[in-house]
Amino acid sequence: MASKFQHNTPKTKNPNGKAESQGQWGRAWEVDWFSLASVIFLLLFAPFIVYYFIMACDQYSCSLTTPIVDIATGRASLADIWAKTPPVTAKAVQLYTLWVSFQVVLYSWLPDFCHRFLPGYVGGVQEGAVTPAGVVNKYEVNGLQAWLITHLLWFLNAYLLSWFSPTIIFDNWIPLLWCANILGYAVSTFALIKSYLFPTSAEDRKFTGNFFYNYMMGIEFNPRIGKWFDFKLFFNGRPGIVAWTLINLSFAAKQQELYGHVTNSMILVNVLQAIYVLDFFWNETWYLKTIDICHDHFGWYLGWGDCVWLPYLYTLQGLYLVYHPVQLSTPNAVGILLLGLVGYYIFRMANHQKDLFRRTDGRCLIWGKKPKAIECSYTSADGQKHHSKLLVSGFWGVARHLNYTGDLMGSLAYCLACGGGHLLPYFYIIYMTILLTHRCLRDEHRCANKYGRDWERYTATVPYRLLPGIF
Ligand code: NDP
Repeated sequence: MASKFQHNTPKTKNPNGKAESQGQWGRAWEVDWFSLASVIFLLLFAPFIVYYFIMACDQYSCSLTTPIVDIATGRASLADIWAKTPPVTAKAVQLYTLWVSFQVVLYSWLPDFCHRFLPGYVGGVQEGAVTPAGVVNKYEVNGLQAWLITHLLWFLNAYLLSWFSPTIIFDNWIPLLWCANILGYAVSTFALIKSYLFPTSAEDRKFTGNFFYNYMMGIEFNPRIGKWFDFKLFFNGRPGIVAWTLINLSFAAKQQELYGHVTNSMILVNVLQAIYVLDFFWNETWYLKTIDICHDHFGWYLGWGDCVWLPYLYTLQGLYLVYHPVQLSTPNAVGILLLGLVGYYIFRMANHQKDLFRRTDGRCLIWGKKPKAIECSYTSADGQKHHSKLLVSGFWGVARHLNYTGDLMGSLAYCLACGGGHLLPYFYIIYMTILLTHRCLRDEHRCANKYGRDWERYTATVPYRLLPGIF
């Protein structure tokens, strides 16, 4: 539905010769030279960016500048650094294969039972948003269950069974990086081939005629194998995100092994990120309606990003703390905990308020009052006029994207837990600021096209995007 707006939406043809309207989100229809250059840059260099961060920790105690200085001054060469890098090992391949297969089994073959006994949790078979071609996919929402089973087994192993050391992830971190890259590229290549040879929903494909752009941003909207195995939900929401908390636990175990104790900063990072991950699984049904699932096609950006970028770069704080065991003073630790919790509260409540408002069509209470809204309309590609409402109460009356602001506050808290010794653990807040600011601008561009004058009325009523009075 969302991608079918008529404002400024010229028609193009897909390979079936069928005219389609151009959307304002997700991948583009025509590639300008800047986008193409960025795509080729990312395809070539993103794996090396990830490698650089992980190598900097492994060989240079998490200094981002020393490797460059060493190379520039001749103290080290690229060949030296590469020679010291652990290669892929049979053990890592076994571990990774076992991990991904286990998540496939939990995702595909274990229908959700959590929704039967957890009050308020919405799981089991759920519907996604309507795709541009009018398809409504069904999903088996069982991520919370997969997370719980995986973590139960992890703790059973750590405290009872001792099949493997809890430091196993840290100990194989670089060999596992090669495995994650192989899967990331393999799944993206498979998705590209599949989109031409056996697409799931041919009408929902988007092409540009540019190979690199198609490969990166994806052609198919919701590629599937069989009725239930959905690539976008599986890769977005399983091997990387379920692993996130396990990776942190493994880093904490390594701290314990190396120093005989776990620092309060490591506990903070583990707890705050676990809240964020658990929130994702608790709200997986809501997630089916977010921009990620509703507008992005499945290509390298999601396939490789979910396999490599997310588990390796979102966990840099825990990795850093293995090399630099920061013990925060109590006031600092409490301050960071509060920042993380308040950020999480704003993030969750803002998302909840919008969801509640849209689900009940405004028949609800927000901050104890009947919500105020701006009535708006838009015309879909088939010429039909639709009505919608933009909430201007609660957090949505304070700024237009306070859910992003809350997310950024939480992200800052993880980074601050690492102290001020190095830049590396601050990568996350820098990256999230760029990601969410760009996302905010892209979303507003889409909404401005969709709602036209009504959007102008909304921005006049709620003038700021992320920070009231500033931006
Ligand atoms: P939003 O949940 O903010 O959704 C934006 C859409 O909501 C708009 O396109 C519009 O859609 C609708 N909308 C906008 N303003 C209003 C309003 N005032 N009232 C009612 N509806 C409105 O964006 P995302 O899907 O990007 O984000 C969801 C969450 O995921 C965020 O909290 C974000 O922080 C988080 N996130 C986290 C990432 C990570 O890597 N950790 C990455 C990306 C997101 P419509 O066309 O329906 O009007």
